[in-house]
Order: sequence, then C-alpha cells, then structure tokens
Amino acid sequence: MDKDLRKTIVRMSKNARRRAPPKDERDYFYICEECGQAVDKRSTAQIFHHEELAHLRLTEAELTDLSLAERAWGKPRSGRAKKP
Ligand SMILES: [Zn+2]
Repeated sequence: MDKDLRKTIVRMSKNARRRAPPKDERDYFYICEECGQAVDKRSTAQIFHHEELAHLRLTEAELTDLSLAERAWGKPRSGRAKKP
C-alpha cells in the first residue's frame, strides 16, 4: 500500500471517529453488495477492502490485523527525523 493511501485512510478514520455516534450500534455497519459481509464504517481500511472488485470476505484474523494496522498508522512515527 502506498504512503498517500495510508495517509488518506488515517485521515478518513480520524474524521469518522469525530462524527457523533449513531443512536444504534447497527448504524455503524453496512452490508457490502459484493460479498455480503457487514462492514464497519468506522474502519476505513475495511471500507477500502470492500471497494475492491472481486474481493473475498475478511476473516476474523484479517479484521483484527486491519484494525491493528490502522491504529499503528495513526500513530506518529518515532525514531525518524521529522519533515517540516
Ligand atoms: Zn465486501
């Protein structure tokens, strides 16, 4: 995945979290038309996965990996020189 896409995902995730939570937990999810899986709208990584053509449903393990990766990208990098 390229860096620009990562940045976009991080930004979208932050925006999504800033939004007021829906009254109903179920409003966090939509059903993907392609694979029929419930997609968490708060996870931009999940949304991107389901945007791809001919994708497969995510397994529990993949869902966990995605959310961990997404959280890691949101953190500032340490040990590197900062660009202005
Ligand atoms: Zn899907």
